Amino acid sequence: MPGKVVRVRRHSNFGWKERLYLPMIFVGLGVTARHFFENFWGYMIGKVKTFVVQYPEERLDYADAFRGHPVLVALESGAPKCVACGLCEFACPTDCITILPDETRSAIERIPKVFDIDMSRCMFCGLCEEACPEEAIVMSRDVELATYDREAMLFHKEDLLRTEEQLGRRIGFIREEYNRA
Ligand code: SF4
Ligand code: SF4
Repeated sequence: MPGKVVRVRRHSNFGWKERLYLPMIFVGLGVTARHFFENFWGYMIGKVKTFVVQYPEERLDYADAFRGHPVLVALESGAPKCVACGLCEFACPTDCITILPDETRSAIERIPKVFDIDMSRCMFCGLCEEACPEEAIVMSRDVELATYDREAMLFHKEDLLRTEEQLGRRIGFIREEYNRA
């Protein structure tokens, strides 16, 4: 089941209650308490209304717009589609991409010898994806990055490569989003 988009109504004019903050804290606590007792009662009578996902055994199918961590698109040969132009590195606001280019004698003249992303600094903003002229770096659907070791957060080229097939939903989405052919 794809994730549901919830549109939040934003207030442009705040009244005295919002400006004082304190009354709104009690309003928030009231909402929390209401949900707690509704769920508790539902649990007692065996009719739980609230939508609960027993993660990690159960997982949601996120919407196509979902942004996991960035990955590199692989060609059929297994090599990265990236031409090491450095635009994503330049666009990245957290400087977490490191590219060392290399030259080849094949049709693709430049390839990344090194392509590292420090996931401990990446904020999943997607600016690298937007900047890339080759559709070579896209946001995956992967978000599970827990590790005991900070060095394990440094993803190398080999860790980042994914086939176009694996990234089909995201690639389809960005083509539509950026009006690409
Ligand atoms: S998603 Fe944002 S922070 Fe992460 S590598 Fe891309 S541009 Fe940098
Ligand atoms: S913008 Fe695209 S082609 Fe250029 S270095 Fe980054 S991933 Fe490679």
